[in-house]
Amino acid sequence: MGKMTFLEKIRIPTYNDPKQVTPGEVDFDDRKCTGCGICVEVCPADSLMMEDTKARMRPPGENQCVFCGCCTAICPSGAVSMKSPFKYTLFFKLIDHGEPKPPRL
Ligand code: SF4
Ligand code: SF4
Repeated sequence: MGKMTFLEKIRIPTYNDPKQVTPGEVDFDDRKCTGCGICVEVCPADSLMMEDTKARMRPPGENQCVFCGCCTAICPSGAVSMKSPFKYTLFFKLIDHGEPKPPRL
């Protein structure tokens, strides 16, 4: 990232700082998950992992989910649902998340 001015620094949260941003969360239906691992492959934030042949979110501190919806969109079994979007903390103002929408395939 290029150099930011002082004003930009105090207005823009640092996404990977847990004090400033709480990452998003997705949920898995273990009865539907076949363990194919595609959701883990596509996650741009590397926030998913396989555990005992089921997909899971990485633990707090390793999860930086940006709530993009790729995992939900690509799961062939419909096992992933969008649970809660990322949230800003401190004084950062959230303008609008909008409704979560999986990306177009
Ligand atoms: S893409 Fe769906 S079925 Fe495949 S591992 Fe992820 S949750 Fe399970
Ligand atoms: S919503 Fe996006 S960032 Fe979050 S776990 Fe799914 S693919 Fe990864």
